[in-house]
Amino acid sequence: MPLRLYNSLTRRVEEFVPLDPQRVTMYVCGPTVYNYVHIGNARPPVVFGLLARLLRRLYPKLVYARNITDVDDKINAAAREAGVPIETITSGYARAFSDDMARLGADPADLTPHATAHIAPIIAMCERLIANGHAYAAQGHVLFDVTSFPAYGALSGRSVEDMIAGARVEVAPYKKNPADFVLWKPSTPDLPGWDSPWGRGRPGWHIECSAMAAAHLGESIDIHAGGNDLMFPHHENEIAQSTCAHGGKIFARYWLHNGMLTFDGRKMSKSLGNVRVLHDLLDRYPGEVLRFLLLKAHYRQPLDWSDAALAQARATLDGWYTVLRDLADIEVAPGERESPAAIDAALCDDLNTPEAFAVVAGLAAAARAARTREEQRRAKAELLGAADMLGILQHDPEAWFKQDLASDTIDAAEIQRRVEARVAAKQARDFATADRIRDELLAVGVVIEDTAQGPRWKVVKTGG
Ligand SMILES: [Zn+2]
Repeated sequence: MPLRLYNSLTRRVEEFVPLDPQRVTMYVCGPTVYNYVHIGNARPPVVFGLLARLLRRLYPKLVYARNITDVDDKINAAAREAGVPIETITSGYARAFSDDMARLGADPADLTPHATAHIAPIIAMCERLIANGHAYAAQGHVLFDVTSFPAYGALSGRSVEDMIAGARVEVAPYKKNPADFVLWKPSTPDLPGWDSPWGRGRPGWHIECSAMAAAHLGESIDIHAGGNDLMFPHHENEIAQSTCAHGGKIFARYWLHNGMLTFDGRKMSKSLGNVRVLHDLLDRYPGEVLRFLLLKAHYRQPLDWSDAALAQARATLDGWYTVLRDLADIEVAPGERESPAAIDAALCDDLNTPEAFAVVAGLAAAARAARTREEQRRAKAELLGAADMLGILQHDPEAWFKQDLASDTIDAAEIQRRVEARVAAKQARDFATADRIRDELLAVGVVIEDTAQGPRWKVVKTGG
C-alpha cells in the first residue's frame, strides 16, 4: 500500500518514495529545554512518532532524529533566575520531556542530538557558508545573506522583497539586510560560549538543525517535520543554510507540518492564562487519554483542546476498555494482534487518524456484538491489533478502571471485601445492607456493576 503525504514544499499530497529504501531518514524539530512543555509541543512528537511507526513497518531501516535545543537565550534566562549553570536547567527538562513523551506513548527517536554537542559541525557549516558567499561575519556575528539564495521564502510562500519591505524583522547595525538571520552570535563572559573564528560566541537556533541533520542523516534527507509555527522563519532558514552549504543539493524532500493547538477556541498564551502544561495534565489524566485527543483530529488541522474534549476522549476510551473487559476471558495470542488493513489504509492516506479511530470504533462495536467465542476471539484480535498500531488500549482493562483510585481513602482489597459482603447480603435477602454498601462505595467514586459473571467494580472520576 503506497504511503501518501501532504508535502508543504509542493503544497500537495504526494506518494512517498524514499531516496534509499535501505536508509529512510526523518528529522523532527524538538523542544528547547528551559521548562516543562505545553500540550501543543506534544503534538509533533506524538503525530510524527506515529508516522515513524508506520514508516518502520514499510521501511525497517528508518533513522528518525529529534533534536534537543540546549543552548538558547530562554535557557540562559532560566539559569540566571534559578542561579544554576545552564546544564542543570537543560538536563533536568530534557529528562522530563523524554519521560513525559514515554507516558504519552510517543515513539522514541533513534537519535536525540543535542546542539551543544555539535558546536564543531556548526562552526564548520558557518565557515563553508562564508567561503561560498552565502554568509558574512560582522561584529562577532555571522549572518546569512538572504539575497544570496533566490529560493528563500519558497516554503512559506514569501518573497525576500516583501520581507525587506515589511522589515518587522529587527534591524541591527551589523546586518547588510534586515531579513538576514544570525548563524552565530557573540557571548559576553557571563553567557555560555565557545571559541570560534569570530571570537567567543554561541550558535543561532536555525543552524543547529541544519548541522545536526547533516551530521546524522546526510546532506539530503527524506522527511523533515515540525509545527506549522516553525515554517517561517525556522524551516525556511534551515533550507537556506543546508542547500547553500551543500552545493545546491535538496535538503529535505518532504516537509510535514502539524496544525496548532487552541484552548476553548483561543490561542494558548501566557497572557490569557490558558496554557496547559503537559507535565501537569499527566498528573490528572492517563497519558493514553491525552494521546488519543492529540491524534483524534487530522494532524494538519488545528486542534481545539478543552476540558470537555478531554472528558469526551476519556469516555470513548472507557467504552472501548469496557468491551475488552467484557471479553477478558477470550484468549488472543500475541501473534494474532495484527493491524487490520483498514487501519493501514487510513494511516497511509496522509496519516488519516480520524478515519483510523472510526475504524477502531467499528471494530469495538463488532466485538461487542460478537456472540460465539470464535467470533469474539477474532473481533478482539482485530481490535487489539488496531489499537497497538495507534498506541491506545495498552493497559490491562481491569487496571484501567481502577487507576484513579484515591489510595488515601480506600484500597482495592477493602473494596473487594465490601463487594463480597454485598453479595452475601443480597443472598440473605438483606437488601438494605446491600444498598448501603453500594451507596458507600459510590460516595468514594466506586461503581459496582452486576454482570452475568458476577459483580465487578470500577472507579469513576468526577471532574478533571
Ligand atoms: Zn529545527
